[in-house]
Amino acid sequence: MNITAKTKICMVIGDPVEHSLSPEIHNAGYEALGLDFVFVACHVKKTDLENFVQGIRVMNIRGVSVTLPHKIEIMQYLDTIDDAAQRIGAINTIVNNDGVLTGYNTDWIGIVGPIEQKKSLNGKKVAIIGASGAARAAAYGVTSKGATLTIYNRTLEKAEALAEEFDGEAFSLEQLVQVRDADIIINATPIGMEQTVNETPVPKEYITDKHIVFDLIYTPNETRLLTEARAQRATPIHGTALFLEQAIEQFRLYTGQEPPMRVMLGTLERLTA
Ligand code: NAP
Repeated sequence: MNITAKTKICMVIGDPVEHSLSPEIHNAGYEALGLDFVFVACHVKKTDLENFVQGIRVMNIRGVSVTLPHKIEIMQYLDTIDDAAQRIGAINTIVNNDGVLTGYNTDWIGIVGPIEQKKSLNGKKVAIIGASGAARAAAYGVTSKGATLTIYNRTLEKAEALAEEFDGEAFSLEQLVQVRDADIIINATPIGMEQTVNETPVPKEYITDKHIVFDLIYTPNETRLLTEARAQRATPIHGTALFLEQAIEQFRLYTGQEPPMRVMLGTLERLTA
């Protein structure tokens, strides 16, 4: 990689951000296509968000990937928000076109893309577990592709609020047995990562061979939910698929080029092996 005074800069921001895989994935893509771009990570605190956005303009940063906890808060400082991000209520991508900053959400594309590679969402019943940011992106994505929606959440009120926005139904986790009737189950909770690696959000006996089971968690790559889904002969989709697809869409937005998917996938597989 030959960085010069003309090199275009992209970055990921978050708090924390040191765990992010985005720099390696995007830089591998730039290198493969010989693009004069570089991608770095910056730890930005919530109290510095407004100044940071000014910095995007002042330093002519081309693109910013936004991760937790800034996906909602930063929206107020941008010039325009794309329609999908507006409906989801969060962005994860900023593109700078001559000082005009536009916010996008590519998470929903990262959710519907891997599902539709297996099966069309049109007319399917989707059960989402969780009702926060990732669940919102999933709810927008699957309903925009013609699926019907049921939200299950620990806090029923949050499930009800989200379901109302996207014409779905809402239940508490006590009703989870109903996922047996769904075509696609999406885990949008952190159950299965970190301190809960031995837990699963969906009891194994509720999963059948007709389900697609998408766990949005990507560390670990193979969660208990996905191991059990495989044992039940369901079709598993890993959280890395979401991570890759949303990054690929960001690559398109930043560079205007078709991303080298194999290279980016290979890099992600190496990092999460
Ligand atoms: P989050 O803060 O990680 O999760 C919040 C949701 O999980 C809420 O609905 C919450 O229920 C529920 N929850 C949390 N702990 C729970 C527990 N012990 N038992 C039952 N429910 C619990 O929010 P998020 O940002 O939307 O992320 C959700 C998941 O998606 C995370 O695992 C994250 O890693 C993953 N994700 C992956 C990618 C990717 O690139 N693969 C991108 C985005 C997110 P209450 O409402 O009751 O609190």
